[in-house]
Amino acid sequence: MNQEFNEDLLEILACPKCNRDIEYVKQVQQLKCAKCQLEFPIADNIPNMIIDEKS
Ligand SMILES: [Zn+2]
Repeated sequence: MNQEFNEDLLEILACPKCNRDIEYVKQVQQLKCAKCQLEFPIADNIPNMIIDEKS
């Protein structure tokens, strides 16, 4: 089955960096933190919440 990402998960997911709510950007199938502008790809409906630190 190729279900869409379950947006209910947004209620329990938080940005791993700032711990704020994240939003689902449906067009690009990504999660995004509006505060730190981090983007998290979704693979097989499972968001990859690992921070890719580039400092
Ligand atoms: Zn954040």
